[in-house]
Amino acid sequence: MDYQALVDDIVGDVHAYRGSGKVASYIPALAEADAHSFGLAIALADGSTYVAGEGDETFTIQSISYVFSLALALHHVKSALWNHVGREPAGSPVNSIIQLEIEKGKPRNPLTSSGALVVCDQLIGRRGREEACSELLQFLRERAGAGEIGIDETIAMSESRAGAFNRSLAHFIAAFGNLKNPPEEVLSLYYRQCSVAMSCRQLAQAALFLAFDGHDPVKGDVVCTPSRARRINALMLTSGHYDNSGDFAFRVGLPGKSAVSGAILAIVPRTGVVCVWSPGLNDAGTSLVGAVALERLVERTGWSIFV
Ligand code: GLU
Repeated sequence: MDYQALVDDIVGDVHAYRGSGKVASYIPALAEADAHSFGLAIALADGSTYVAGEGDETFTIQSISYVFSLALALHHVKSALWNHVGREPAGSPVNSIIQLEIEKGKPRNPLTSSGALVVCDQLIGRRGREEACSELLQFLRERAGAGEIGIDETIAMSESRAGAFNRSLAHFIAAFGNLKNPPEEVLSLYYRQCSVAMSCRQLAQAALFLAFDGHDPVKGDVVCTPSRARRINALMLTSGHYDNSGDFAFRVGLPGKSAVSGAILAIVPRTGVVCVWSPGLNDAGTSLVGAVALERLVERTGWSIFV
């Protein structure tokens, strides 16, 4: 297949949709994004990447960071993580607090905001948030390969200032005794991981290990066990897109994670990784144009896991 022609064709396919959807504004610094932006990148096992539109522009990875911090936390605490967070779809908005009360401070899954806070807490462990944050950045830099990767401090600050929901979640979880570290420490790591700036190309390369049973075929190293990679993919399929994970599986059929900045990461097992970015969101918070682009891509390639 001519992958460069494929990604260029997708840019054409979504042209009429560009600018649709609503840019997130509850984090003031995110509201400045242009809904017309659109980027796409595919990373494959042989190290080739195919990029179209603004696939090399950086944006903050927001809740796509949850996937990488989950991989690292599982590396540190292994299956003990599941004592603190569940594995069931939430069926509610990303920052819902209702379920937390019902389930006594144990978030439904690690891909909700409350679940990600618990994962951050486990990642900090006993060593402090600075060290945990450096480890995460180092991990992303190693996995993504080329290019700078850093934290967009303006967005991190804006998130923290507008962070009443996340602050409530963290304190609520702490009230049930499910955080080891002070909530503000956990929140600080959380805002910083959400504010890591990366491009579609970098994200697609960074997640390659998830498409190949935990092994990165380009760098040649083992990042996690095959079963851990499969489980992270399973969580992405069932819980990666807020309250429209079912719709995403129906339309696209790939494990993936949506972020409020308009990025979507999609894993194509045994083939590669696709990342799209377009800031206009649908009502559930997934990139509207990004989901259309992935739908077209899967139609053209037959990459759905449901074949
Ligand atoms: N930092 C965002 C928040 O906590 C992440 C949400 C998302 O990407 O869904 O609200």
